[in-house]
Amino acid sequence: MNIQATERPASHLFYVTRLRRPLVDRAEGIYFWTEDGRRFIDGSSGPMVSNIGHGNRHVIEAMKRQMDKVSFAYRLHFENEPAEELARRLAGKMPGDLDRIFFVSGGSEAVESAIKLARQWAVATSQPKRWKVISRFPSYHGGTMGALGVTGDLALTETFAPQIQPMPAIPAPTAYRDRDNLTMEQRGVRYADMLEEKILAEGPESVVAFIMEPIGGAATAALVPPDSYFPRIREICDKYGILLIHDEVMSGAARTGRYLGGDHWNCKPDIITLSKGIGSGYAALGAMAASAKLVKPVLDMGGFQHGYTYAGNPLACSAGLAVLEEMERLGCEANAAAMGDLLKSALEGLSKRFPFIAGVRGKGLLIGCDLVADPVTFEPFPKTQATNQRLLDIAYDKGLILYSRRIRGDGAELDNLILAPPLIISAAEIGEMVSILGDSFEQLAHELDLPVNG
Ligand code: PMP
Repeated sequence: MNIQATERPASHLFYVTRLRRPLVDRAEGIYFWTEDGRRFIDGSSGPMVSNIGHGNRHVIEAMKRQMDKVSFAYRLHFENEPAEELARRLAGKMPGDLDRIFFVSGGSEAVESAIKLARQWAVATSQPKRWKVISRFPSYHGGTMGALGVTGDLALTETFAPQIQPMPAIPAPTAYRDRDNLTMEQRGVRYADMLEEKILAEGPESVVAFIMEPIGGAATAALVPPDSYFPRIREICDKYGILLIHDEVMSGAARTGRYLGGDHWNCKPDIITLSKGIGSGYAALGAMAASAKLVKPVLDMGGFQHGYTYAGNPLACSAGLAVLEEMERLGCEANAAAMGDLLKSALEGLSKRFPFIAGVRGKGLLIGCDLVADPVTFEPFPKTQATNQRLLDIAYDKGLILYSRRIRGDGAELDNLILAPPLIISAAEIGEMVSILGDSFEQLAHELDLPVNG
């Protein structure tokens, strides 16, 4: 069935495109069923959200119990037990002294909060000239105006340029693509050193923070920097008194096989943003973690001048708490690591047959690659070919949901692909997913007349 031809009455809803999709009926584990009886594998956990899988009874029951008591109580009127307990539990998962938690309802809100906390901290500590937040390109940090200011994807920012406060950016550490004589570790340091160069060019007294994803997401498809990148970035931030913000909205909540992406390198950033997996799709939930040292001057100057209506509501926090309990009970970190290894080797295997799959990378169940015309030079496919959308449609028709985007980072465009099923996936289910994935690549190669190795 061609999804574009799905015939239903005109809808009052609109999102990105006019494309109609089948009506979802129910979901359980890694599967969705639509009203017309079709089954789909959630190969991307939506947009890397449904980490503990669909239909989890423990979470559903916890939310029902909470709704019977109180669903909403405004944070400036009442404290609530689920928010207190979730903050305590999340603080325990954060590195170093990042034990102060600020709740929000999504990833963009978490990023806005981090940018504003950094700025207000600068003002509160008598550094009023500091306001710039350096970011990377390509990158994705959210759709709100502040978050777009640190997002490096021209396809998303160009139209709104007059309304966005653009921030300085350095290249993302796409070391796997470089063709030079350096080792990966040397490249890691070289990419990190670009931060120092940028700080000096901007004027260190004007820079308040640097924001990055420890393991890349939407814009860089599971980009894993060389190990040497992390300590050098920390060193540079410390040298100039600049806050390091780790955006763990996608890489956090056990997605990469550790609770945080940065845990693979024992990173100690100053601010961490979380969302997606911490609510796992059961509630709109996000969070920002910072140290008491950072938060205190802000509170002392009369309070953080920022907040959202739904922040820390009891229902969303009861979901977050139950999700966290399930993540531990189901061993999501260990399973993500083990199943991620399986999935990554499978994709590496497929890249031997289909040379347009290049740069396979990732950790845990955040696995990515580029889709390219030439695997050596990483030459992109022509835009007109709409390779990424074609792959999405082919897989969707076969019952597999994938996540693939065409990114416009620094002008150069590239199609990428992320594989990120729920962290509860079994080896048999990985096999099923890989089989449909292979068939989808086969069809893509056939339709676009791409070379295939025998
Ligand atoms: N930061 C990162 C790293 C993300 O991946 C996303 C969402 N893809 C966001 C921020 C924004 O999150 P939301 O869509 O929930 O606002």
